[in-house]
Amino acid sequence: MQTYHLSEHLSMIDVQPPISGWDEFVGVYVLGREQMALIDAGPYCSAGNLINGLDELGIERENVSYIFLTHIHIDHAGAAGELLQHLPNARVVVHPRGASHLANPDKLWEGSLKTLGDLAKKQGRPQNVAPERIIAAEEGTIFPLGDEFELEVIHTPGHAAHHMSFFDRRSGKLFAGEAGGAYTAKVDLLRPATPPPLLLEHYLESIDKLLRRDATGIYYAHYGPDEDARTKLQRHKEQAKLWREVISEALEHGAEYEDIFSKLMAEDASLNGLKELPKDQYQREHYFIINAIGGFVGYIEKQKT
Ligand SMILES: [Zn+2]
Repeated sequence: MQTYHLSEHLSMIDVQPPISGWDEFVGVYVLGREQMALIDAGPYCSAGNLINGLDELGIERENVSYIFLTHIHIDHAGAAGELLQHLPNARVVVHPRGASHLANPDKLWEGSLKTLGDLAKKQGRPQNVAPERIIAAEEGTIFPLGDEFELEVIHTPGHAAHHMSFFDRRSGKLFAGEAGGAYTAKVDLLRPATPPPLLLEHYLESIDKLLRRDATGIYYAHYGPDEDARTKLQRHKEQAKLWREVISEALEHGAEYEDIFSKLMAEDASLNGLKELPKDQYQREHYFIINAIGGFVGYIEKQKT
């Protein structure tokens, strides 16, 4: 676990799940002064690291009022149930479509095992969240946090149907989850976060929705902050369109996923940084890029029918 002070009343914990290549990958944001909130919870397997991170930051556990979940995938929401045992006053804020899966994660867990296999087992099975501690948040709901923050819920389907982003109306900070893709700042690597089933129209519309906020900074779930929200979001939108073209064309020629990966590496400059990553992080990103290609392939094939 590693903690980072980002700005006044805002920190990030790299929860470092004990999975190969998963350091510098899962960022949980901690914000507020007296009334506090987390954005995302990380997977079940790093719940203890997160609690240690809160201790290191000197946070009183009673002061945490909310855990805002960008979505319910197990690398973001898996630790929520466990964390609530340590945070007596916290409630979990989630998209209305995700609420029932927090209360009873059976289906979510089955689905995760099916799509991620061993990688789901390593993250661990989420604990149930008591229904009275779940807040299903509609589009536009505002959550004030003391005088410091005023978080607006923005529904941003695309990465998942139950994805939301959080925009601080005071400072203009945007907590985008995976709605703006995944960004590895140290090598300037930006990639789509588009697992199947992908509705590309929703993914692109959500980016437009975020662009309209004119944010002063973007805070990626994977991974970390960037000052230039507009440029990054715009670049990501163009990237998604480029992927649609490149993958459509490749499929015409009967390309396999690894061929498509090579074509994207040749045509998409935003992927250049991949080669500079250490081997375990390269393998992690390769896995998720193949997964993201799968979303586009499914989308393109559906268009044809
Ligand atoms: Zn994720």
